[in-house]
Amino acid sequence: MDQGYLFNPELIRRYDKAGPRYTSYPTAVQFHQKFGAAQYVEHARLSNEDPIPQPLSLYIHLPFCATVCFYCGCNKIITNNRKRAVPYLERLHREIALHAELYDSDRVVDQLHWGGGTPTFISLDQMQALMSEIAKHFNLREDDKGEYSIELDPREVTEETLGVLRELGFNRISLGVQDLNEKVQRAVNRIQPMEKTEAALDQARKEGFHSISMDLIYGLPRQTVESFSRTLNEVIRMSPDRVAIYNYAHMPSMFKVQRQINEAELPSASEKLEILRHAVDRMTEAGYVYIGMDHFAKPDDELTRAQQNGTLYRNFQGYSTHSGCDLVAMGVSSISKVGFTYCQNHKDIDSYFKSIDEGELPVFRGIELSFDDVLRREVITQLICNFVLDKSRIVDRYLKYMEVTFDDYFADELEQLNIMQGDGLLKLNDDSIEILPAGRLLIRNICAVFDVYNNESMKSPRFSRMV
Ligand code: SF4
Repeated sequence: MDQGYLFNPELIRRYDKAGPRYTSYPTAVQFHQKFGAAQYVEHARLSNEDPIPQPLSLYIHLPFCATVCFYCGCNKIITNNRKRAVPYLERLHREIALHAELYDSDRVVDQLHWGGGTPTFISLDQMQALMSEIAKHFNLREDDKGEYSIELDPREVTEETLGVLRELGFNRISLGVQDLNEKVQRAVNRIQPMEKTEAALDQARKEGFHSISMDLIYGLPRQTVESFSRTLNEVIRMSPDRVAIYNYAHMPSMFKVQRQINEAELPSASEKLEILRHAVDRMTEAGYVYIGMDHFAKPDDELTRAQQNGTLYRNFQGYSTHSGCDLVAMGVSSISKVGFTYCQNHKDIDSYFKSIDEGELPVFRGIELSFDDVLRREVITQLICNFVLDKSRIVDRYLKYMEVTFDDYFADELEQLNIMQGDGLLKLNDDSIEILPAGRLLIRNICAVFDVYNNESMKSPRFSRMV
């Protein structure tokens, strides 16, 4: 399929509303406390009984960071005291065992991701111990064919780090970069010399990591089109396989640490839009393919190929080529997706510790999806990942049992999409919905039409604007 995009500032301004990023559907706003550990256990056990049980995807949350970045909206614990990781890791090891009891031991772990916080906050010995604990309880792949990734802060990397990580089985890394400009780095309290980033990337290449990704942010204080352009030039020169360029959402009422950002230094809305325009143009000129939702990949990257083949998938960690996994998430605040459920661990460390100390899974809320949720999740996933929705896939999987057509089930949504069709964002065909190049940067808005909780979600202060 054509993977091009069209940057139309007038349309982007008109559609620029707050909304979810659809790493899950329904979003976490809909999770509730009637769904707790007992419900999770029941669904985890049931997932073993599928005719062909899904492989597993494991997420490990390591929440510590040595310094705070002023733009941060993550669940993290800022401390210089490395010893604070010790009691956390003890609980995490116990949590791993509690989850593992629920799953048949032959279920292969196709995906593993360590995120944070800063996973590299812990020592190499602690990392080795953590990976051994995971391997003791879960069936990790030994053929290097899984998607085993870790978020890496180049400021934390020593000469040994990447070799150890590769030996532990990681084959993908994402490097937190954000911006290479010193003034911007000072304004967000993240001083990271380019040499450190480049050294980490070179080392990762030498160690044979399959995929190296870099995370950038646009819309940060003191950023201009020219300054960000210089950052992009350097990033393109370093040539990572994938680049994510996230929108900085300034929401100081939600995230206290953002109050340390000087608002007068933030780029204006129009400047920010220009930075984005320049960024997508520059990345595509340099040969990267716009995968969607802030992500770019090289044409021969497996994400690009998966999108071309219609097999791309999206989860809490972003885009992936492994669609059918049950996601078991461990660590404070992490979110699992098992069968037709989502559930989240306690967000504060004391409650998390208390549950584990009492021998219980630290789940505090979740949701069991209704038939309608499952159907809409599939629609949203297809649109976000592949920029096209094949109506017959939805009918064959879900609607034929109800003897209803796609157009009847989604009559209201199609009316709204008709307006978007008038704006050139998409094309409504008899058998498909096709996102046109002008709609690709606005894919969140298009998906929001299928979000039945839309009005409630949009009111939530936790969602950022679309662009
Ligand atoms: S952006 Fe990353 S490194 Fe910085 S404070 Fe947040 S979680 Fe920690």
